Amino acid sequence: MKFDDYSINPAIKKALDKLDFKKPTDIQFKAIPPILKGEDVLAIAQTGTGKTAAFAIPVLHKLHERKQYAREDGIKCLVMVPTRELAIQITEVFQTLGKHTRVKTFSVFGGVEQGPQIAKLEDGIDILVATPGRMFDLVSQGYIRLERVEILILDEADHMLDLGFIRDIRDLMKFLPRKRQTLFFSATINEHIKDLAYSLVSKPIRIQVSPKDPVAKNVDHSVAYVGMDDKRFFLERVVQENAGSKILVFVRTKVRAERVHEAMKRVGIVTETLHGDKDQKERLTSLNRFKKGDVKVLVATDVSSRGIDIPSVEYVVNYDLPEVPENYVHRVGRTGRGTHKGKSVSFCSPEEKPILDEIEKFLGKPIKVLEIAKDDYSATIDFSSEAKPDVMALMREHEAKLDSMKKAPKVSNANKKKKKK
Ligand code: AMP
Repeated sequence: MKFDDYSINPAIKKALDKLDFKKPTDIQFKAIPPILKGEDVLAIAQTGTGKTAAFAIPVLHKLHERKQYAREDGIKCLVMVPTRELAIQITEVFQTLGKHTRVKTFSVFGGVEQGPQIAKLEDGIDILVATPGRMFDLVSQGYIRLERVEILILDEADHMLDLGFIRDIRDLMKFLPRKRQTLFFSATINEHIKDLAYSLVSKPIRIQVSPKDPVAKNVDHSVAYVGMDDKRFFLERVVQENAGSKILVFVRTKVRAERVHEAMKRVGIVTETLHGDKDQKERLTSLNRFKKGDVKVLVATDVSSRGIDIPSVEYVVNYDLPEVPENYVHRVGRTGRGTHKGKSVSFCSPEEKPILDEIEKFLGKPIKVLEIAKDDYSATIDFSSEAKPDVMALMREHEAKLDSMKKAPKVSNANKKKKKK
């Protein structure tokens, strides 16, 4: 089935066409019809499956087709997300897909000034994408009114629970009309998530996408056994062998992110870093430089791994293995998005083997091993540009020795001459 065959408004089809989205992804195929019908939906789907468009397309259609349209009515659809990055990204999807509609989407999130957000809210908007903290500030100050909300979407609900937003979500429910459509999206499911989901939705249509293999089929992912201190040489090699590709590198900590950045700088590779020590503005700048392709390598921590949609990342490198096994799925899910193909490699040092075992248990199968022959391993280190300055230094040392050897007789002759005088 193609998007052409759907009864969705031509204004949205035009945007889909521009994006070159021809066929729905699995989650879109399953979710769009019930959402259009007004059903509640409970969907288990990871980022990368096309889940944003799975709710954006039908919601835009419904709001655009409303007969009596009055913007003063207030916010019609509220999308709750765990992070600012995700808020920005989802807003972009709504704005791109809704470009030819009269639906207005806006996002509010913390870390930036409140004033401009309030001014925009007063203009009147239809869809609000929000992170819980800033949203509650604005609701309690009376800048956001939610009594006209018809559709509530919770995206990455599992991540919202991880971040401790459960109370905020429950408090928020008091401001929303009881009669509404609720769409609940989560990458994983457990008892807590089920509890939350069933307290919000009513008689939902349940949708699950590729439950058996949490890593999308179009991602070729493997693991390479690499010593902790040798990882930088292998990253250098991946970058060189994939020149021109966008590479997303995941590390365990902020400190390591900066260290990798420095190590790459030493060998002439420019990288950007994305981690919690950077303020909102710096994070957005880094992300945008990477998105635009000004910088091809982005070194990030897990904080930034969830929900970020960076178009066409060809390669994901797990420089360090993630300590939470399901983060492997989220990280690797940054590539091979939609219908694209992607590649990923994880560097596993001997001390990380137990973490790898946990990840494989979570995936329900082993990860393909990228065998590195001994010669190849040492060549990777020997051919590193980092090694080159040492070679140069050795050569200089050698030349200096030769020089001094050449000069030595002259000196002694001179000395002899001096002595004669
Ligand atoms: P998401 O899971 O919403 O983060 O989307 C993952 C990626 O898939 C995004 O980069 C979208 O642009 C892309 N995408 C979504 N739907 C489609 C589609 N029907 N065809 C091709 N690409 C898509």
